[in-house]
Amino acid sequence: MTYHNYSLKQLQQIDAQHHLHPFTDHKDLRGAGSRMIVRADGPFIYDAEGHQILDGMAGLWCVNIGYGRNELAEVAYEQMKELPYYNSFFRCAPPAAGLLAQKIAQLAPKHLNQVFFGSSGSESNDTALRLVRHYWALEGKPEKNRIISRQNAYHGSTIAGTSLGGMEPMHGQLHGAVPNIVHVMMPYAYELALPGESDHEFGLRAAKAVEDAILEAGPDKIAAFIGEPVMGAGGVKIPPASYWPEVQRICRKYDVLLMLDEVITGYGRTGNWFAAETFGIEPDTITTAKALTSGYLPLSALLVSDRIAKTLEEKGGEFHHGYTYSGHPVCCAVGLKNLEIIEKEGLVERVREDTGPYFAQMLRERAAGHPLVGEVRSVGLMGAIEIVKDRETRERFLPSGSAAVIVRDHAIANGLMMRATGDTMILSPPLMWTRETIDLAGERIAKALDLAEAQLRKPS
Ligand SMILES: *Cc1c(COP(=O)(O)O)cnc(C)c1O
Repeated sequence: MTYHNYSLKQLQQIDAQHHLHPFTDHKDLRGAGSRMIVRADGPFIYDAEGHQILDGMAGLWCVNIGYGRNELAEVAYEQMKELPYYNSFFRCAPPAAGLLAQKIAQLAPKHLNQVFFGSSGSESNDTALRLVRHYWALEGKPEKNRIISRQNAYHGSTIAGTSLGGMEPMHGQLHGAVPNIVHVMMPYAYELALPGESDHEFGLRAAKAVEDAILEAGPDKIAAFIGEPVMGAGGVKIPPASYWPEVQRICRKYDVLLMLDEVITGYGRTGNWFAAETFGIEPDTITTAKALTSGYLPLSALLVSDRIAKTLEEKGGEFHHGYTYSGHPVCCAVGLKNLEIIEKEGLVERVREDTGPYFAQMLRERAAGHPLVGEVRSVGLMGAIEIVKDRETRERFLPSGSAAVIVRDHAIANGLMMRATGDTMILSPPLMWTRETIDLAGERIAKALDLAEAQLRKPS
């Protein structure tokens, strides 16, 4: 590799001089220098100093089949030699795009059979937003164009993604969101349930917030509701079982389309190919990206229901939207191979029946009883650990978010990559993790919690 001619110090200096990083405080970063991740194999990543780190985040929720899968490199190489690029505009198409779309349709809930490709989750949500508004316009209801989303939702980082999302710091820097998007409460029982309110009741109340927003604007003004089945970047917030069926009932009652953002949950993470199955939801669109190629190349796919596809076809007229790289042949060939591997190795069933329950048990045994932990929760292979100062009162350490960062730093120093978001530790490992990998993660989590506790409660 080209970087082998440089020392670590040099690489860090070059990075600091020229590379603007995503979601980063550059003042902090320039002081500390970047951790250079130089190679990876199976469930492990390696930094430039030779540390082996178990990747509890699958990159960024995406490397589901693990690192070092030469099959993907080979398929990319073959496709690049044969046809490195062609577009899908003007009635052309590379065969790989159609074949991947067919494969996705076969795996998806049966009323979703059409696919629109992009290069990222953010782009795909942009497409979804335009498409549902275009749908209602074609149906003769152009004023039915408002979208309901949720506080603290993450739908990407472009202007449309940020506008759909509900992250306050991101909105603070937006200086003008896409109009007609409103945000309602999130289904986060640990912090938002009232004293004495059961999870079930809380789930219904959080769903009622969607109905209130529909009634406030008038159902003839609301195009769609968008949500992550499990809020990911917002802290792996798993809604109570009562939430999604009630949201779906409400959407149907007022003829509001249901848009699911499965950029994290798509392709197996919750133990089904789509979390729509896990939670019994029949959405009109599903946004997917990340795990579609296991992150080996950038690719997103928006799944579109027969209802929307039928209107597009029957009413005709051009949908004035698309990307140069929509249906990129190399990305699609890699996506197809990746899905074949997940299928062949039975990773989705393994998460559902074996590693998912085992992961939940590990979190209970290794974290749930710890004095720093208020709650653990997981679905399939995504999990969260709430860091608190006091388990009984759920009081947090101040300043908010500071304690989780300490736990995270101990975890990384002890060979486990995990993420802190607010006061919540989150995990989203590759689906190829085995019971042994989960055990190893458990040991490192327990150690990180102990070290963090010693540091946080040190008498001053
Ligand atoms: C990561 C993510 C996105 C954005 O995907 P990008 O590829 O980073 O644009 C959108 N929605 C959810 C739920 C995500 O986790």
